[in-house]
Amino acid sequence: MKKFSLFLIGSAIMISCNETPIEQAAVEGNEHESEFQWTTEKFGDIQILRFQIEGWEKLSLQQKKLAYYLTQAGLAGRDITWDQFYRHNLEIRSALENIVKEYKGDKDSDLWNNFMVYTKRVWFSNGIHHHYSNVKMKPAFSMEDFESLLAETNTEISQEAKKVIFNDKDAKKVSKDSSSDLVLSSAVNFYDPDISEEEASAFYKNQIDTTDKRPISYGLNSKLVRNADGEIEEKVWKIDGLYGSAISEIVKWLELAKGVAENEAQANALGILIDYYKTGDLKKWDEYNVAWVGVTEGDIDYINSFIEVYDDPLGYKATYETVVQVKDLDASEKMSVISENIQYFEDNSSIMEEHKKKEVVGVSYSMINVVGEAGATTPATPIGVNLPNANWIRKEHGSKSVSLANIEHAYDQAKGNGILEEFTYTKEELERAKKHANASSKMHTALHEVVGHASGQINDGIGTPKETLKNYASTLEEGRADLVALYFIVDPKLMELGLVESEDVGKAEYDSYIRNGMMLQLRRLEIGDDIEEDHMRNRQLVASWAYEHGKAENIIEKKVLDGKTYFVVNDYEKLRVLFGELLREIQRIKSEGDYEAGKNLVETYGVKVDPEIHKEVLERTKKFEVAPYLGFIQPELEPVMENGEITDVLVNYPKDFQKQMLMYAEKYSFLK
Ligand code: ZN
Repeated sequence: MKKFSLFLIGSAIMISCNETPIEQAAVEGNEHESEFQWTTEKFGDIQILRFQIEGWEKLSLQQKKLAYYLTQAGLAGRDITWDQFYRHNLEIRSALENIVKEYKGDKDSDLWNNFMVYTKRVWFSNGIHHHYSNVKMKPAFSMEDFESLLAETNTEISQEAKKVIFNDKDAKKVSKDSSSDLVLSSAVNFYDPDISEEEASAFYKNQIDTTDKRPISYGLNSKLVRNADGEIEEKVWKIDGLYGSAISEIVKWLELAKGVAENEAQANALGILIDYYKTGDLKKWDEYNVAWVGVTEGDIDYINSFIEVYDDPLGYKATYETVVQVKDLDASEKMSVISENIQYFEDNSSIMEEHKKKEVVGVSYSMINVVGEAGATTPATPIGVNLPNANWIRKEHGSKSVSLANIEHAYDQAKGNGILEEFTYTKEELERAKKHANASSKMHTALHEVVGHASGQINDGIGTPKETLKNYASTLEEGRADLVALYFIVDPKLMELGLVESEDVGKAEYDSYIRNGMMLQLRRLEIGDDIEEDHMRNRQLVASWAYEHGKAENIIEKKVLDGKTYFVVNDYEKLRVLFGELLREIQRIKSEGDYEAGKNLVETYGVKVDPEIHKEVLERTKKFEVAPYLGFIQPELEPVMENGEITDVLVNYPKDFQKQMLMYAEKYSFLK
């Protein structure tokens, strides 16, 4: 019925809408969404976005307080990340910020404009090295220009810090080029500048007990320094050690958080984290992670500490980061329905009987909404997090896997209007996408994660895909998980379980998958490139395999109108059958370890790009260009006080990136 009424609305606007590409003007956005401004400014290669804390109003006062204290704890450590990334970062930032505040000259000049772009890029990267490429960013102004700004604003900076903005020293934050000394050629501040890779490696080699089945994370929370005698030692990040002034602030807020914890287990974990910050004892860190992983009750959760080791070229030392989050109850409940029915999916899959698991164990997975981030997780943010990192804890106690739903939603919104209109062929397809894209992509992700990766089994004695399918293993694994999701997203069982509201959700996913796999994703590539990235390879593999194999029956049709190409799904039922066949084959490849067949599939369908289509996609998407890197302004929590008590916590959604950065510096500079 729904489809029918949509068609009527459509035909009132356009005659024979099924055959007419959609004009942009004929479509209206969702009102609720259009009220919120998802994007703000663009500078350098950056686009600034905003996100909303969905579900905030439903929290109790105690939960709001907990979230507030945890975000304050997070922000208290903000400057640690800056200092970890480079020893001159904080001094440079403070000089840049003073100029921003004190400059009274012409703000329309090129110099000022270039200065502000540089400063904003530094803010965005938490330092003077690019947040993604790690390369030191080059300002579009000279040292002389900079000196004039310093003089005009009475700003002080040391000679060395000033020079490194412009010279070639410390050119890379993290070097992964193993032909040079990894530690000496990395600018990160985890090692004194004169400590070599050999010295650092030897230091830890001496400590590590390789027979320990539950090893601590050696070196995780310290800097290696050379002492007065020339010997190498660790300076631990703890309350009475390095970064102590920021850590004591973090602890102050964590204590408050502990006082309003939602349950005993949560309070207990917070208590161990506080002990860890006080002692720097890495055994406490493990103890904490075991406790944290065991906290599954409650709506508020968080990450706070030295977590990921990507920024250390040797992989020992962790960068400070924090995420405070509230469970997306609705979405997480849906996930649990999927987990509860996981055996149904396995039993009814299109894969061969002998490749089915008799008893499937689902992955614990929840959808969360971010309340606030600080340190290395912002302004650029992850969209999924799976912790803890210690392998033995994961094996013995499990891990928590979360998807940052409101961040993904904001990305979605920021993609901007127009692209859908440009690449959908019929009014019906467009309307369906607008109405269901959010629900369908969430459902796809959930089925992919919860059912897809957990499904199927490998024949005895075959070995892991890493060994058998080698460099094609990841692409095929992602393809397999996608196909499980695609196979079931149109299954009537989903409606029966209340997971989707209509069959249009599945159809919207099919349209979108084909559109993306056949065309849209190519906008990330440059002319002449092959597809290298595993997810992109798998999407093209799945879409183009289905297109080729459905040609005889015209299941997916290539249409060209006014020089524009569209891939249109004509038969959803039959497309599902095709997805089922490919799933069965890829599962067979994995179960039997059939390297040749896997290689053949990926190389035939997933790697080479149709150069004509690629050129066309680049031309048609040019006008919608979003910056290559996106990041966020954080919401700001504001406690309402009465007689010294918090009676409510309000959320503000600021729009000015610069203002937030200056406010953070004012309020949270604890390392000075
Ligand atoms: Zn996956």
